Amino acid sequence: MGMENRDIKSMELSELTEYVKELGEKPFRAKQLYQWMHQKLAASFDEMTNLPKEFRSKLSESTVYTSLETVQMFESGIDGTRKYLFGLGDGNIIESVLMRYRHGNSVCISSQVGCRMGCRFCASTLDGLTRNLTAGEMLDQIYRIQSSIGERVSNVVVMGSGEPMDNYDNLVRFIRLLSDENGLNISQRNITVSTCGIVPGIRRLSEEGLSVTLALSLHAPNDEVRKTLMPIANRYSLSEVLPACREYYEKTGRRLTFEYSLVRGVNDNLEEAKKLAGLVGNMHGHVNLIPVNPIKERDYRQSDREAIEAFKTYLEKKGINVTVRREMGRDIGGACGQLRKSYLSKKEGE
Ligand code: SAH
Repeated sequence: MGMENRDIKSMELSELTEYVKELGEKPFRAKQLYQWMHQKLAASFDEMTNLPKEFRSKLSESTVYTSLETVQMFESGIDGTRKYLFGLGDGNIIESVLMRYRHGNSVCISSQVGCRMGCRFCASTLDGLTRNLTAGEMLDQIYRIQSSIGERVSNVVVMGSGEPMDNYDNLVRFIRLLSDENGLNISQRNITVSTCGIVPGIRRLSEEGLSVTLALSLHAPNDEVRKTLMPIANRYSLSEVLPACREYYEKTGRRLTFEYSLVRGVNDNLEEAKKLAGLVGNMHGHVNLIPVNPIKERDYRQSDREAIEAFKTYLEKKGINVTVRREMGRDIGGACGQLRKSYLSKKEGE
């Protein structure tokens, strides 16, 4: 395949229609093709049996068809959570998670191969950023998972490896394709984008006319502590990030989520809970407490049960909506990019 080959799974229907015309085909073929990719979740052109053979071979010569290869899949015996390692066309490996709730199937996708944000407790960023994912590669994580379980995916969270705002254009393209009525048609209200707090990205996203939920990785109630955990805090202070989030709420009407990973002795005492309550008390959002998942490369430890409970109770008393994230798939290990990391280091050792 040459450099000029078009990434067909990342095209919106209008773009695809133009392209199909360029190839000398009737415009109605574009919609058929689009539905094969985004609704019937075809893994290759060969499956698109109502398209003329000649058209299909023209497509396979002139385009790249993203279709992820399932390298490994682990299923939890406790709660049915599945973790997938997918292979990309260039040999890179990414990680996605399926969580099964009573209200439906939720998929957590990666937005980049690796990450360059450098959050201290996060495994995805240890080797830096390899590359951005295309919109098609983000979509196909969901497509392959939906196909493999034979059930509809109803919720998507962009909370896997990578910083979505660092791959902004592909992110927005991904959201439009995922919520398109000729595709999986997943409601934008059921899509959550989690960011470490890149202010221009948050502001831009609030202007897109989308209604996705924004989650901010807060992790500390002041810049001093936040800087020790997240390098991005040196770039954007809380006095810039929080107003950008408020603006996001005002423009979209979507309630915010604040993620707060509790790290023993770093951000988990009641003094911090108090400051946090002061910060987000009137922000139209809820707080999601995440007991930090220790990675072997760093010595951060999980807060103990009592500290977590006390932190939560304090926020509740202040009238803040708060949840503690349940650990899913405990028996299949490796959250937040740790699975990919251990797979890659095992391969290296072979
Ligand atoms: N780049 C995005 C998405 C990252 S992952 C962001 O920063 O929001 C989603 C959430 O998991 C983020 O809040 C991230 O800070 C958190 N996280 C990453 N590694 C973690 C770990 N080892 N323990 C607990 N939370 C972690």
